Amino acid sequence: MASYLRAGLSPAAASQICMNQCRAKCCRGAWILSLSQAEAQVFQAKAEELGVEALVRPAAEGGGWIRFSEHPGERCPMLDPATFACRIYESRPQRCRSFPERMTPGCAISGG
Ligand code: SF4
Ligand code: SF4
Repeated sequence: MASYLRAGLSPAAASQICMNQCRAKCCRGAWILSLSQAEAQVFQAKAEELGVEALVRPAAEGGGWIRFSEHPGERCPMLDPATFACRIYESRPQRCRSFPERMTPGCAISGG
């Protein structure tokens, strides 16, 4: 279960903290986002739809991954740098939905 649910926050309240207080640290920096096969296809399709360049690397075990450092600003290509909102929020990968799964330093939601 995601930490925001354990903390009693609604998804909307958690999103406000991520965007306005934290400025989406999870979506920037030296992170790698892993994607299932289906998520990789959706990610590519959404990137084309939005006109965003996304380097989805194939994973040996299937699916794919995104290395934020390979993209402009060292952030997830789906992060809007002006608002810190996810441009594919409704279709975001499972990894993005469940993070943070445990106490994370600097994360107000997880209590770290
Ligand atoms: S570190 Fe915590 S507050 Fe910041 S974007 Fe990640 S989940 Fe949101
Ligand atoms: S898909 Fe959205 S929530 Fe997931 S890392 Fe990228 S910008 Fe963040």
